[in-house]
Amino acid sequence: MTLHEVVPGVHAWVQPDGTWWLNNAGVVAGGDQVLLVDTCATETRTRRFLAAVHDATGGGTIRLAVNTHLHGDHTYGNSLLPAATVIVGHEHMREGLRVDPVIDGCPPLWQPVPDWGAVTRRLPDITVQDRLTVHIGQRRVDVVHPGGPAHTTGDLVAWLPEERVLFAGDLVFNGLTPLVFMGSVTGAIAALDWLAAFGPDHLVPGHGPLLTAADIDPVFDRIRRYLRLVLDTADAGLRAGLTPLEAARACDLGEFAGWADAERIVPNLHRAYADSRGADVDPVAALTDAVAWLGGPMATRV
Ligand SMILES: [Zn+2]
Repeated sequence: MTLHEVVPGVHAWVQPDGTWWLNNAGVVAGGDQVLLVDTCATETRTRRFLAAVHDATGGGTIRLAVNTHLHGDHTYGNSLLPAATVIVGHEHMREGLRVDPVIDGCPPLWQPVPDWGAVTRRLPDITVQDRLTVHIGQRRVDVVHPGGPAHTTGDLVAWLPEERVLFAGDLVFNGLTPLVFMGSVTGAIAALDWLAAFGPDHLVPGHGPLLTAADIDPVFDRIRRYLRLVLDTADAGLRAGLTPLEAARACDLGEFAGWADAERIVPNLHRAYADSRGADVDPVAALTDAVAWLGGPMATRV
Protein backbone atom coordinates (compact mmCIF):
# COMPACT_ATOMS: atom_id res chain seq x y z
CA MET A 1 0.00 0.00 0.00
CA THR A 2 1.21 3.48 -0.87
CA LEU A 3 0.38 7.09 -0.24
CA HIS A 4 0.10 8.73 -3.68
CA GLU A 5 0.34 12.51 -3.87
CA VAL A 6 -2.58 13.37 -6.17
CA VAL A 7 -1.86 17.11 -6.17
CA PRO A 8 0.51 18.87 -3.73
CA GLY A 9 -0.70 18.19 -0.18
CA VAL A 10 -3.56 15.92 -1.24
CA HIS A 11 -2.88 12.20 -1.05
CA ALA A 12 -4.63 8.91 -1.68
CA TRP A 13 -3.87 5.78 0.34
CA VAL A 14 -4.27 2.91 -2.08
CA GLN A 15 -4.33 -0.67 -0.81
CA PRO A 16 -3.87 -3.20 -3.60
CA ASP A 17 -5.60 -5.24 -4.79
CA GLY A 18 -8.71 -3.47 -3.57
CA THR A 19 -10.67 -6.66 -2.90
CA TRP A 20 -12.85 -7.32 0.18
CA TRP A 21 -11.86 -5.05 3.11
CA LEU A 22 -8.93 -3.40 1.24
CA ASN A 23 -10.10 0.16 0.73
CA ASN A 24 -8.62 3.43 -0.41
CA ALA A 25 -8.53 6.45 1.88
CA GLY A 26 -7.57 10.11 1.51
CA VAL A 27 -5.46 12.81 3.12
CA VAL A 28 -5.97 16.55 2.66
CA ALA A 29 -3.30 18.72 4.28
CA GLY A 30 -3.93 22.43 4.77
CA GLY A 31 -0.98 24.07 6.53
CA ASP A 32 -0.34 21.96 9.64
CA GLN A 33 -3.95 20.74 9.70
CA VAL A 34 -5.12 17.47 8.21
CA LEU A 35 -8.45 16.10 7.04
CA LEU A 36 -8.76 12.37 6.35
CA VAL A 37 -11.26 10.68 4.09
CA ASP A 38 -12.01 7.30 5.72
CA THR A 39 -9.80 5.00 7.78
CA CYS A 40 -9.12 1.26 7.28
CA ALA A 41 -10.65 -2.00 8.43
CA THR A 42 -8.10 -3.33 10.90
CA GLU A 43 -5.90 -1.96 13.63
CA THR A 44 -2.74 -2.97 11.74
CA ARG A 45 -3.79 -1.39 8.47
CA THR A 46 -5.08 1.80 10.09
CA ARG A 47 -1.87 2.24 12.09
CA ARG A 48 0.13 1.82 8.87
CA PHE A 49 -2.06 4.44 7.18
CA LEU A 50 -1.73 6.87 10.10
CA ALA A 51 2.07 6.45 10.13
CA ALA A 52 2.16 7.34 6.43
CA VAL A 53 -0.10 10.35 7.10
CA HIS A 54 2.28 11.47 9.86
CA ASP A 55 5.29 11.25 7.54
CA ALA A 56 3.59 12.94 4.59
CA THR A 57 2.20 15.85 6.61
CA GLY A 58 5.15 16.43 8.94
CA GLY A 59 3.08 15.32 11.91
CA GLY A 60 0.12 17.54 11.04
CA THR A 61 -2.87 17.53 13.38
CA ILE A 62 -5.72 15.33 12.18
CA ARG A 63 -8.58 17.72 12.88
CA LEU A 64 -11.30 16.16 10.75
CA ALA A 65 -12.19 12.83 9.21
CA VAL A 66 -15.01 12.20 6.73
CA ASN A 67 -16.53 8.71 6.49
CA THR A 68 -17.77 8.08 2.95
CA HIS A 69 -20.15 5.34 4.17
CA LEU A 70 -20.69 2.91 7.02
CA HIS A 71 -18.75 -0.16 5.87
CA GLY A 72 -16.02 -1.35 8.19
CA ASP A 73 -13.21 -1.18 5.65
CA HIS A 74 -13.69 2.60 5.76
CA THR A 75 -14.72 3.13 9.39
CA TYR A 76 -13.47 0.55 11.90
CA GLY A 77 -10.17 2.46 12.15
CA ASN A 78 -12.06 5.58 13.33
CA SER A 79 -11.34 4.52 16.90
CA LEU A 80 -7.58 4.89 16.33
CA LEU A 81 -7.83 8.55 15.37
CA PRO A 82 -6.83 11.13 17.97
CA ALA A 83 -9.56 11.76 20.54
CA ALA A 84 -9.81 15.40 19.37
CA THR A 85 -10.46 14.50 15.71
CA VAL A 86 -13.98 15.45 14.67
CA ILE A 87 -15.61 12.76 12.52
CA VAL A 88 -18.20 13.62 9.87
CA GLY A 89 -20.63 11.14 8.31
CA HIS A 90 -24.06 10.93 6.76
CA GLU A 91 -26.87 10.48 9.28
CA HIS A 92 -27.76 7.04 7.86
CA MET A 93 -24.09 6.06 7.94
CA ARG A 94 -23.90 6.89 11.64
CA GLU A 95 -26.99 4.81 12.41
CA GLY A 96 -25.69 1.93 10.28
CA LEU A 97 -22.35 1.77 12.06
CA ARG A 98 -24.13 2.07 15.43
CA VAL A 99 -25.96 -1.22 14.80
CA ASP A 100 -23.29 -2.96 12.65
CA PRO A 101 -22.76 -6.44 14.08
CA VAL A 102 -19.64 -7.31 12.10
CA ILE A 103 -17.24 -5.19 14.17
CA ASP A 104 -18.17 -7.25 17.25
CA GLY A 105 -17.41 -10.57 15.56
CA CYS A 106 -17.06 -11.23 11.86
CA PRO A 107 -19.18 -14.14 10.62
CA PRO A 108 -17.14 -16.87 8.84
CA LEU A 109 -18.00 -15.60 5.37
CA TRP A 110 -14.41 -14.73 4.47
CA GLN A 111 -11.21 -16.76 4.51
CA PRO A 112 -9.27 -15.94 6.59
CA VAL A 113 -11.88 -14.52 8.96
CA PRO A 114 -10.76 -10.88 9.31
CA ASP A 115 -9.02 -10.01 12.55
CA TRP A 116 -9.91 -6.38 13.24
CA GLY A 117 -7.46 -6.04 16.14
CA ALA A 118 -8.07 -3.41 18.81
CA VAL A 119 -10.69 -1.30 17.09
CA THR A 120 -13.98 -0.20 18.60
CA ARG A 121 -17.11 1.42 17.24
CA ARG A 122 -16.52 5.17 16.93
CA LEU A 123 -19.40 7.08 15.40
CA PRO A 124 -19.38 10.46 13.65
CA ASP A 125 -19.64 13.57 15.80
CA ILE A 126 -21.31 15.56 13.02
CA THR A 127 -23.92 14.15 10.67
CA VAL A 128 -24.80 15.42 7.22
CA GLN A 129 -28.09 15.07 5.36
CA ASP A 130 -27.27 16.77 2.07
CA ARG A 131 -24.02 18.72 2.14
CA LEU A 132 -21.51 20.47 4.31
CA THR A 133 -18.43 22.54 3.51
CA VAL A 134 -15.38 22.30 5.73
CA HIS A 135 -12.16 24.29 5.56
CA ILE A 136 -8.81 22.81 6.41
CA GLY A 137 -6.13 25.50 6.38
CA GLN A 138 -6.64 27.31 3.07
CA ARG A 139 -8.42 24.41 1.42
CA ARG A 140 -12.13 24.00 0.89
CA VAL A 141 -13.69 20.52 1.03
CA ASP A 142 -17.34 20.02 0.02
CA VAL A 143 -18.85 16.93 1.63
CA VAL A 144 -21.87 15.94 -0.46
CA HIS A 145 -24.55 13.22 -0.49
CA PRO A 146 -25.66 11.92 -3.93
CA GLY A 147 -29.32 12.53 -3.11
CA GLY A 148 -30.49 8.95 -2.60
CA PRO A 149 -29.34 5.38 -2.01
CA ALA A 150 -26.42 4.25 -4.21
CA HIS A 151 -23.60 2.15 -2.68
CA THR A 152 -25.43 2.48 0.67
CA THR A 153 -28.17 4.78 1.95
CA GLY A 154 -25.62 7.08 3.59
CA ASP A 155 -22.91 7.81 1.03
CA LEU A 156 -20.82 10.99 1.02
CA VAL A 157 -18.14 12.20 -1.36
CA ALA A 158 -15.41 14.73 -0.57
CA TRP A 159 -14.84 17.27 -3.34
CA LEU A 160 -11.99 19.76 -3.49
CA PRO A 161 -13.27 22.35 -5.97
CA GLU A 162 -9.99 24.29 -6.23
CA GLU A 163 -7.85 21.20 -6.78
CA ARG A 164 -10.60 19.35 -8.70
CA VAL A 165 -10.01 16.16 -6.73
CA LEU A 166 -13.00 13.95 -5.95
CA PHE A 167 -12.90 11.27 -3.25
CA ALA A 168 -15.78 9.11 -4.45
CA GLY A 169 -15.78 6.35 -1.82
CA ASP A 170 -17.48 3.15 -2.95
CA LEU A 171 -19.64 4.90 -5.51
CA VAL A 172 -16.70 3.82 -7.71
CA PHE A 173 -14.94 0.45 -7.75
CA ASN A 174 -12.21 0.66 -10.37
CA GLY A 175 -11.43 -2.64 -12.04
CA LEU A 176 -13.24 -4.93 -9.66
CA THR A 177 -16.83 -5.93 -9.05
CA PRO A 178 -19.04 -3.15 -7.62
CA LEU A 179 -21.12 -3.86 -4.53
CA VAL A 180 -24.55 -2.25 -4.15
CA PHE A 181 -26.50 -4.63 -1.92
CA MET A 182 -26.98 -2.10 0.88
CA GLY A 183 -27.93 0.72 -1.49
CA SER A 184 -29.68 0.73 -4.85
CA VAL A 185 -28.75 -0.58 -8.30
CA THR A 186 -30.53 2.21 -10.15
CA GLY A 187 -29.23 4.71 -7.59
CA ALA A 188 -25.67 3.51 -8.19
CA ILE A 189 -26.12 4.09 -11.94
CA ALA A 190 -27.53 7.57 -11.32
CA ALA A 191 -24.64 8.34 -8.95
CA LEU A 192 -22.14 7.82 -11.78
CA ASP A 193 -23.74 10.64 -13.80
CA TRP A 194 -23.78 12.77 -10.66
CA LEU A 195 -20.07 12.12 -10.02
CA ALA A 196 -19.10 12.84 -13.63
CA ALA A 197 -20.87 16.21 -13.40
CA PHE A 198 -18.29 17.40 -10.85
CA GLY A 199 -15.78 17.33 -13.71
CA PRO A 200 -12.89 16.04 -11.60
CA ASP A 201 -9.30 16.09 -12.82
CA HIS A 202 -8.55 13.30 -10.34
CA LEU A 203 -10.92 10.77 -8.85
CA VAL A 204 -10.05 8.51 -5.90
CA PRO A 205 -12.28 5.41 -6.02
CA GLY A 206 -13.17 3.49 -2.87
CA HIS A 207 -11.32 0.46 -4.24
CA GLY A 208 -8.85 0.05 -7.09
CA PRO A 209 -6.38 2.36 -8.84
CA LEU A 210 -6.69 6.15 -9.04
CA LEU A 211 -8.39 7.75 -12.03
CA THR A 212 -7.61 10.88 -14.00
CA ALA A 213 -10.15 12.78 -16.12
CA ALA A 214 -9.51 10.76 -19.29
CA ASP A 215 -10.14 7.44 -17.51
CA ILE A 216 -13.47 8.38 -16.04
CA ASP A 217 -15.82 7.90 -19.01
CA PRO A 218 -14.60 4.42 -20.01
CA VAL A 219 -14.46 3.20 -16.40
CA PHE A 220 -17.93 4.56 -15.61
CA ASP A 221 -19.34 3.05 -18.83
CA ARG A 222 -18.10 -0.34 -17.79
CA ILE A 223 -19.61 -0.03 -14.31
CA ARG A 224 -22.93 1.07 -15.87
CA ARG A 225 -22.91 -2.00 -18.14
CA TYR A 226 -22.33 -4.25 -15.12
CA LEU A 227 -25.12 -2.66 -13.11
CA ARG A 228 -27.50 -2.97 -16.08
CA LEU A 229 -26.57 -6.66 -16.30
CA VAL A 230 -27.61 -6.97 -12.63
CA LEU A 231 -30.96 -5.33 -13.39
CA ASP A 232 -31.57 -7.46 -16.51
CA THR A 233 -30.61 -10.66 -14.68
CA ALA A 234 -32.96 -9.77 -11.83
CA ASP A 235 -35.84 -9.08 -14.24
CA ALA A 236 -35.33 -12.42 -16.00
CA GLY A 237 -34.92 -14.25 -12.70
CA LEU A 238 -38.08 -12.77 -11.23
CA ARG A 239 -40.06 -13.68 -14.34
CA ALA A 240 -38.69 -17.24 -14.22
CA GLY A 241 -39.40 -17.60 -10.51
CA LEU A 242 -35.73 -18.02 -9.61
CA THR A 243 -34.18 -17.06 -6.28
CA PRO A 244 -31.34 -14.50 -6.42
CA LEU A 245 -28.84 -17.35 -5.99
CA GLU A 246 -30.41 -19.34 -8.83
CA ALA A 247 -30.47 -16.24 -11.03
CA ALA A 248 -26.78 -15.67 -10.26
CA ARG A 249 -25.96 -19.25 -11.21
CA ALA A 250 -27.79 -18.79 -14.51
CA CYS A 251 -26.04 -15.47 -15.24
CA ASP A 252 -23.18 -15.26 -17.73
CA LEU A 253 -20.93 -12.53 -16.31
CA GLY A 254 -19.29 -12.14 -19.72
CA GLU A 255 -16.80 -9.25 -19.78
CA PHE A 256 -17.09 -8.98 -15.98
CA ALA A 257 -16.16 -12.59 -15.18
CA GLY A 258 -12.53 -11.58 -14.74
CA TRP A 259 -13.23 -8.87 -12.17
CA ALA A 260 -12.21 -9.80 -8.62
CA ASP A 261 -15.01 -10.47 -6.13
CA ALA A 262 -17.29 -11.80 -8.91
CA GLU A 263 -19.47 -13.42 -6.21
CA ARG A 264 -20.91 -9.95 -5.55
CA ILE A 265 -23.36 -10.73 -8.35
CA VAL A 266 -25.34 -12.60 -5.67
CA PRO A 267 -25.79 -9.82 -3.07
CA ASN A 268 -26.27 -7.34 -5.92
CA LEU A 269 -29.14 -9.48 -7.23
CA HIS A 270 -30.59 -9.63 -3.72
CA ARG A 271 -30.74 -5.83 -3.86
CA ALA A 272 -32.30 -5.72 -7.33
CA TYR A 273 -34.93 -8.28 -6.27
CA ALA A 274 -35.69 -6.39 -3.07
CA ASP A 275 -36.09 -3.11 -4.93
CA SER A 276 -38.50 -4.75 -7.40
CA ARG A 277 -40.56 -6.15 -4.55
CA GLY A 278 -40.32 -3.10 -2.29
CA ALA A 279 -38.62 -5.30 0.30
CA ASP A 280 -35.35 -5.07 2.19
CA VAL A 281 -32.13 -7.11 2.02
CA ASP A 282 -30.82 -9.22 4.87
CA PRO A 283 -27.08 -8.51 4.42
CA VAL A 284 -25.84 -11.68 6.10
CA ALA A 285 -28.29 -13.87 4.11
CA ALA A 286 -27.19 -12.19 0.88
CA LEU A 287 -23.50 -12.78 1.68
CA THR A 288 -24.20 -16.36 2.76
CA ASP A 289 -25.67 -16.93 -0.71
CA ALA A 290 -22.46 -15.47 -2.22
CA VAL A 291 -20.48 -18.10 -0.31
CA ALA A 292 -22.83 -20.78 -1.70
CA TRP A 293 -22.30 -19.45 -5.26
CA LEU A 294 -18.53 -19.60 -4.78
CA GLY A 295 -18.62 -22.98 -3.08
CA GLY A 296 -16.56 -21.69 -0.14
CA PRO A 297 -15.72 -18.58 1.84
CA MET A 298 -14.85 -15.35 0.05
CA ALA A 299 -11.16 -14.49 -0.20
CA THR A 300 -9.65 -11.63 1.74
CA ARG A 301 -6.17 -10.45 2.80
CA VAL A 302 -6.93 -8.71 6.07
ZN1 LIG B 1 -15.29 -0.31 0.67
